[in-house]
Amino acid sequence: MGMFVQIEIDYNKCKNVKNCKICEDVCPVEIFKFEKLDNNRKISVVEENIDECIFCNLCLEKCPQGAITIKKLY
Ligand code: SF4
Ligand code: SF4
Repeated sequence: MGMFVQIEIDYNKCKNVKNCKICEDVCPVEIFKFEKLDNNRKISVVEENIDECIFCNLCLEKCPQGAITIKKLY
């Protein structure tokens, strides 16, 4: 669990984009994990890596659904 940062994906928005994994591709510190499931994909937030976030905002800028929220807790 990130102590200083909370990163959330709104799956109601994310699910509208088939096979998207832009967040995983753009994040320099591997906060997002893409998994291929049969005909679908699953995007997870990797809790152990959250505190590595450098607030580059790439994921926020590139997500076509505006599905990602980042909160600083300090
Ligand atoms: S702001 Fe940058 S480092 Fe943080 S999760 Fe998004 S892409 Fe990764
Ligand atoms: S970039 Fe946005 S829409 Fe695409 S997988 Fe990530 S959270 Fe979902």
